[in-house]
Amino acid sequence: MEITHIEHIGIAVKSIEEQLPYYEGILGLKCYNIENVEDQKVKTAFFMVGQTKIELLEPTSEESTIARFIEKRGEGIHHIAYATRNLNEALKEMEQKGVRLIDQEPRGGAEGLNIAFLHPKSTGSVLTELCEHPE
Ligand code: ZN
Repeated sequence: MEITHIEHIGIAVKSIEEQLPYYEGILGLKCYNIENVEDQKVKTAFFMVGQTKIELLEPTSEESTIARFIEKRGEGIHHIAYATRNLNEALKEMEQKGVRLIDQEPRGGAEGLNIAFLHPKSTGSVLTELCEHPE
């Protein structure tokens, strides 16, 4: 597997709106997209930082994994997402190397990316996402 860059860092927040003054007003980043990801019951807001994005994740339902994360651990960094060129192959390779997968197959994520999560038990407790830009 070849990781090309950090695609994004996911940060769990209770309210995107409440965080905008920090990211836009203080850091001077520009929110260029807000999107609902029904699948994951989250609203996402994106800021570009070089070729890496900051992705704020706000739960839209109490059943959202983000809602449960905030309940247990509070707001903060939720996951790190690495960009790969071939997600199917990367997942096969991870499996062969004994990495526990949360997603056996790529699925659709925000911004039209194909994504899959690796289990924190296999990644030093850092929830890790692999993603690929579909071509
Ligand atoms: Zn993500």
